[in-house]
Amino acid sequence: MAGGNAIRGTRVGAGPMGESERGESAPRRRVSYWCANAHESRPSFAVEAEIPENWDCPRCGLPAGRDEQAPPAPPRNEPYKTHLAYVKERRSDADGEAILEEALTKLRKQREEP
Ligand SMILES: [Zn+2]
Repeated sequence: MAGGNAIRGTRVGAGPMGESERGESAPRRRVSYWCANAHESRPSFAVEAEIPENWDCPRCGLPAGRDEQAPPAPPRNEPYKTHLAYVKERRSDADGEAILEEALTKLRKQREEP
């Protein structure tokens, strides 16, 4: 009786049925997309799949479109801008130099004083 159980156990999930079908690749087609930086990316899609209008460029992350002559414009908002970038934008270089100069002058004075 024990032997019968063992044979049944080996059969479960070990059959070759279905594996060959799953391994075959479905027919695919490549679609070209261009981003604003003229990068071409060519993802492939299953033939029956719906082709998306836009595709994120894998090289620079900008949205890419299917029309090489009219790629989608890069988005206006810059999500990766840091707080420091905002500060630098508001403060001109001249202001920065003045602040630096002031700090240096203070340092020199402190050193000169006994
Ligand atoms: Zn790109």
